Order: sequence, then structure tokens, then C-alpha cells
Amino acid sequence: MISMQCIGCGAEYSINDVICGCDKCGDLLEVRIDEESLREKIEKEEWKLRPISVWKYKEFLPIFDETKIVTLNEGGTPLYKCEKLAKEFGIKNLYVKNEGANPTGSFKDRGMTVGVSKALELGVKAVFCASTGNTSASLAAYAAKAGLPCIVLVPAGKIAIGKLAQAMMYGAVVVAVKGNFDVALQMATEASKKIGLYLLNSINPFRIEGQKTAAFEICDQFGWQTPDRVILPVGNAGNITAYWKGFKELKALGLIEKPPKMVGVQAAGASPIAKAFAAHSDTIEPVENPETIATAIRIGNPVNWKRALNVLKESNGAALAVTDDEIVKAQKLLARREGIFIEPASAASIAGLKKLVENGEVNVDEAIVCVATGHGLKEPEAVVKACGGIIEIDPSIEALERVIKA
Ligand SMILES: *Cc1c(COP(=O)(O)O)cnc(C)c1O
Ligand SMILES: [Zn+2]
Repeated sequence: MISMQCIGCGAEYSINDVICGCDKCGDLLEVRIDEESLREKIEKEEWKLRPISVWKYKEFLPIFDETKIVTLNEGGTPLYKCEKLAKEFGIKNLYVKNEGANPTGSFKDRGMTVGVSKALELGVKAVFCASTGNTSASLAAYAAKAGLPCIVLVPAGKIAIGKLAQAMMYGAVVVAVKGNFDVALQMATEASKKIGLYLLNSINPFRIEGQKTAAFEICDQFGWQTPDRVILPVGNAGNITAYWKGFKELKALGLIEKPPKMVGVQAAGASPIAKAFAAHSDTIEPVENPETIATAIRIGNPVNWKRALNVLKESNGAALAVTDDEIVKAQKLLARREGIFIEPASAASIAGLKKLVENGEVNVDEAIVCVATGHGLKEPEAVVKACGGIIEIDPSIEALERVIKA
């Protein structure tokens, strides 16, 4: 039977309980797939012929009533081979998984298509989240498609204009809290219990289920081989948890042999997991006032920290921190060498790779996938600042020639 299990005390819950945390100890819940029945379903090879998308892997997902699926055709994102950038870094096999190509421009759509479908299946009346931006944009879109009211809590003054615009246009009630994301999430968790709103932050186990499909797609795109290393930005650490869950499920079913090393990259001003990793500590110290240009990972107290540290250990991976300056440089580099425009948080994965190579921690022959988590147009303010001003001229050819020659 498919069920949910507490990662702390091991308590079991029905897959149809409307809860996002353990009633007994308060820790997070995780969906347990039913390996036996899944094995039976996937032995029929028919699913392998479907085009890649989140729902290609529906046998792995805990949605039982297919009429309740809320989809905007998420997933199926490109995996680019980046030869120019690889050469510049001195490695041979670099790929970028461009999650900015999802319907609302971030990987959050993978989690929301499953999470909001589950919300419909469970019959909830409204959906709710705290967000640094992309979660709210994505939830707002899927709630709109589902016909569910949507309320989002964002940190006042700290959300990128592109993301705010999306949430508002999709019709969510946007509430700005005077406090940072960690404060907003704490509030959202309490409020969801008290007011009875269905919470769709990454503590929601169905979000993780949807997001694990990115790991499936990477293996699929590698012809059911695996890369040696997957590098991704880490904020609340739900995504790194989801990828690892995906790789482990494929391994358990014999679909892949060797899961990759997982590398989590944080921004230096918001890096409790990277610090714990460096200190060989099995617990994190939350960062009181997280600061970084990469707003999507501006999180001081990641709720999935325990699972993230476990992923690093189990996968023989690593965590590291990069500065805002390194992030902006990496963002420009990927755009200018490969034509891929990503938001600052996403560029942390590229900056992290650069650092690993410089520190001699990467073998030049490794196949490496950097996950580009969100689209560059999400945060136009940061971009215009980073790229300097535009050149204004009088309407004359001479003036234009002067500029071109310079
Ligand atoms: C949400 C988000 C992240 C961080 O993901 P976590 O699951 O919180 O670690 C990174 N990049 C972008 C663009 C995001 O939207
Ligand atoms: Zn528990």
C-alpha cells in the first residue's frame, strides 16, 4: 500500500489524510511508494514511449483519480549540452537542465501540478503558501486552472517583480508580511492548521513527489544512464530532497545502476546547510537575517534541512556556498556563452560548479548536470543592474558608428 510516513518518528499515515506534518512529533511526512505494485506497472514498457513530462511518470505519482489531474504541460524541459561553458571551466561533459522552461518559469510547477491535483482529490476548499516568489507564481497558476481560491504570503519588499506580477495576474490574494521568508513560512504553517487552508509549501509531501520527476527526466534524457553529479541551488532544500528521492526510486526498481552525487549550492549570506556540511555537523544553525541577491534561496532556516544533510551523506555529495558576485558572474556567463537566461538563484549551481572545479574536486571527465531552476525574466531589476546602463544616442548614423567603434 502507498502511504505517508514521518521522517522523525516513523508514524504512518494514510495517503488521503489532509495533513502536512506528523501529528505526533511535528516532523515532515514523506510518501512511500508501493514498490511491488509499481514494479508490476513499469515492467510493461509502454510508459517509456511517452514523451517526457511530469505525467509520463504517473505510475510513480500518488494521484489515483486521473480526472482530478490539473496540468499546464509541465516538465519535459530541455537538457542542454554546454560545450563552450565546459571548455571555459576545463571539463568535458556539462549539461544544463533548464527548468525555466516550465509553464510559470520555474521547477515549482512540477510540484504544483501534483500538489494541486491532490488538493482536488482531497476536496480541499482553498490553497495557501508562503513564498519567496516562484512558489506563489506557480501555485496561483495551478489554483486558477483548478478553480480553487489561492492565498499567498510573501516577505514584504523582498519578492522579485516578475514573480509578484504572475501571482497577481493569476488571481491569487497576495499578502505581504513584514518579515522574511522564514517568518512567513512559520506563519503559514500555523495559519493553515488554524484556518484550515491546504498548505503547498515544500513541507507538503506531494510537492516533493512532483519534483522528483526532474530526476526521472534527466535519466531518461541520458538514455537511462545517470550523470556523475547533479548540482542545484538550495533554499528550503525541498528540491534536492526530491531529486534524491527520484534517483533512489529508479535505483530500487533497477531502472538505473548508480545514482549521481548530489551537490547543493547556497548563497553565502544564507548558507546554513553548506556551513553544517563544512563542519561535519548533523544539525544546522539557522541564519537569523539571510541576505543575498538570489531571492529564491534567501532562506535562513530551511525546513528540509534534515533530509538535505542526509542526501549529501547518502549520495557522497557536498554542499558549498557562493557569493553574490560569483552568482551574478555565473548568470552572465551562462547567458553569454550558451544563450540560457536564468535567475540569480539558479546561477548558484553554475557558480558552485566553477568553484568545485577550481578546488580540484571535480574530475574533468565527469558528466555533470547543473539545474537551472528558474527563468531569468523573473528578476529583471537585478539583471538591469548587473548589466550596466544602456547607451543613448542622437538619431544619427555618425553617432551610431561612434558607439559601434567604441
Ligand atoms: C524554490 C527555488 C529554489 C530553491 O529550492 P528549494 O526546494 O527551496 O531548495 C531555487 N531556485 C529557484 C529559482 C526557486 O524558485
Ligand atoms: Zn513523527
